[in-house]
Amino acid sequence: MTDTPTFQLDGEDIPCRPGQTVIQAAQAAGRYIPHLCWHPDYAPHGSCKLCLVKADGRSVAACTVEARPGMQVENRTPEIDDQRRRLLNMLFVEGNHFCPSCEKSGNCTLQATAYEMGMTNAHYDHFYPDRPVDASHPDVMLDFNRCIMCELCVRASRDEDGKNVFALAGRGMRSHLIVNSASGRLADTNFAATDRAASICPVGVILKKRVGFAVPIGRRAFDALPISAQMPPAPPAEDAP
Ligand code: SF4
Repeated sequence: MTDTPTFQLDGEDIPCRPGQTVIQAAQAAGRYIPHLCWHPDYAPHGSCKLCLVKADGRSVAACTVEARPGMQVENRTPEIDDQRRRLLNMLFVEGNHFCPSCEKSGNCTLQATAYEMGMTNAHYDHFYPDRPVDASHPDVMLDFNRCIMCELCVRASRDEDGKNVFALAGRGMRSHLIVNSASGRLADTNFAATDRAASICPVGVILKKRVGFAVPIGRRAFDALPISAQMPPAPPAEDAP
């Protein structure tokens, strides 16, 4: 018998502490709530909407709502996963995500989450945006075509690296990632391959040069196990010890 307060996640008792969010408590208990912009090391962002769950019948973001004892949370229901599939579909067509030619394939959180949700095709028409690649930096290249605007690089560079190299510009459909330098080029910043921001991108935008495919396809994090079976998710293979 334990006095630890709990809430229910898909009918299962999950321990929770005061101040802990639903996703933090679920992660601590090894339970997967789909997400893209949430990261345990940073303040919640609440932008990707993948972690929307139903708590006591209300739709809420699991990354921002506090886990309260006795709360009933629905997570992996067909209805909620269907909504997540729609969001993923929109992300895939909004950028240029060509998994077979992407260095991040097998280590990509967007790809792994789509597999987890059973997404089998891109349901909507592709936008095919024209976003130039920035290969100006000696050690890191940026392929903006794959950006899902989670702002993890923005938070890592600003809050952890103390450099503020990245930012989002524009609004709505015109929202996009920019580099904070007069020229807009990464080479004209003090960005370094050792920065946390260089390793935080969940998709294939921020890529270190000269290590591409060092870990072969088939031996990458999500080749081995689905994302829901990796709690916490494995680091990208090029950063693994
Ligand atoms: S570059 Fe990567 S980490 Fe930065 S906002 Fe885009 S997807 Fe997120």
